Amino acid sequence: MKAEAVLQEYFGFEEFRSGQKELIEGALGRRDVLGIMPTSGGKSLCYQIPALLLDGITLVISPLISLMKDQVDALNEFGIPATFINSTLSIKEQNLRIDESIKGKYKLIYIAPERLNSEIFLNFARKVKIPLVAVDEAHCISQWGHDFRPSYREIPKFISSLDYRPVIGAFTATATEEIVEDICKILNLNNPLKIITGFDRPNLYFEVKKSSDKKSFILNYLEKSPEESGIIYCATRKEVESVGNFLSERGFNVGIYHAGLTNEERKKTQEDFIYDKILVIVATNAFGMGIDKSNVRFVIHHNMPQNIEAYYQEAGRAGRDGEKSDCILLYSPQDVIKQKYLIEQSIYNPKRQEVSYKNLQHMIDYCHTRGCLRGRLLNYFGEEMENENCNFCSNCLDDRELKDISLEAKKIISCVYRMEQRYGTTMVAKVLMGSRDKRILEFGLDKLSTYGIMDEYTEKVIKDMILLLIADGYLHMTEGKFPVVQLTPKSMEILKGEKKVYQRVEKEEELPKRDLPIH
Ligand code: ADP
Repeated sequence: MKAEAVLQEYFGFEEFRSGQKELIEGALGRRDVLGIMPTSGGKSLCYQIPALLLDGITLVISPLISLMKDQVDALNEFGIPATFINSTLSIKEQNLRIDESIKGKYKLIYIAPERLNSEIFLNFARKVKIPLVAVDEAHCISQWGHDFRPSYREIPKFISSLDYRPVIGAFTATATEEIVEDICKILNLNNPLKIITGFDRPNLYFEVKKSSDKKSFILNYLEKSPEESGIIYCATRKEVESVGNFLSERGFNVGIYHAGLTNEERKKTQEDFIYDKILVIVATNAFGMGIDKSNVRFVIHHNMPQNIEAYYQEAGRAGRDGEKSDCILLYSPQDVIKQKYLIEQSIYNPKRQEVSYKNLQHMIDYCHTRGCLRGRLLNYFGEEMENENCNFCSNCLDDRELKDISLEAKKIISCVYRMEQRYGTTMVAKVLMGSRDKRILEFGLDKLSTYGIMDEYTEKVIKDMILLLIADGYLHMTEGKFPVVQLTPKSMEILKGEKKVYQRVEKEEELPKRDLPIH
């Protein structure tokens, strides 16, 4: 049987999606493959179809224990002999499945990487023929990724313990160079066929909303679309509870999901959501990996996530059915502080911390850019957009007035230079507005020629302008706990008047000015 025939007969799909055919044929031709596709791009078929056509049992390694049953049930419904072996089963049931597998009952077995430590499983693996090892969510192997799982490091050990070398298929939605390199290196992929399909999700509308009253925004949004299913992501369990209660008290049918709830509670909420018994889930990022619910109409981020990979993956859970869906990120400066704190608390390795700060800065820049949001996201994944504007994101559709702030930009850049590129955004803003802050006086910064040259603006407005310049590359923010603002080669373009900088302002509000200069 050919791959197309399996696609149609078993899965009932007409044709392959972008990249699937190449990856399937690669694996069938015994070549290692690396499939990089966006969430819902159709990665699973790329190992499920070879599994049916190859002699022996394909091993699927996935971190998603809670979803294995659903994935396997779905395959069984298509008439595909698959099973899973994981810690949710009794030992007796695990042994039974192993026995059945030895007898050739299954073509696919799903396991979590931890299973590769089990002697019983290793003995079993030596007894059967494994033509293909499919590594799902392969970015989990890299410590530079947003979801590093040390147990993934067992995979290469397991493969070299076999007395033959199965084909390896690695699949992920993460395309940053560092991680792709890591996947190839750590999994020891042998001249893999690398397929990176387009990352664009044209049906997703992207929006960044700077909001100090996020709950009201969400409430308004839900009131306008009461029938729609969606996910609201929050940074912490506390916020999940708070937003969840806020919405429930106002009569919305919402569920909450975070790692502090029991397995049963989480499972029930997840199922209720999948079967549309509850429309909206308020969750931490513990929710959603591998969830295949097609009609999610919106994903609202109550807080800015730690990096663009996580954001795109979470936002990408909207609109899997191809219908127009909203991805809205509610930004406030506190989110940056929160994420820095989380990095400090959870990442100890200094190199990893540095990478995390760098990734965080990309995320912050996304929130501040005036350029096309889709373009930003795609550029991050190494893709160019054909046009400069997508006309389907909040920046492209922003009809607020564009104010020329080139003069302000010049003043800011000069001030950064005068301050010897040694201070953060707050200090630069304070100097420009002429603040009498103790530290400004202590460091003698009030003696600089740029002191007070923007005294008509508030600190917040100046900071926003600085962040805009950083987001568009006219200034640079160093990484680390105490980032400082520095010049970039592009700063000169502003100083020489070669480039203009624009900022969107509300027509009626203009940029808020200060009533009284403080000094
Ligand atoms: P990923 O793992 O990349 O997030 P999945 O493999 O779960 O995505 O696929 C997403 C959805 O697309 C699933 O519902 C799947 O059945 C469907 N799908 C995959 N390939 C095809 C195809 N060739 N034609 C139609 N639907 C497909």
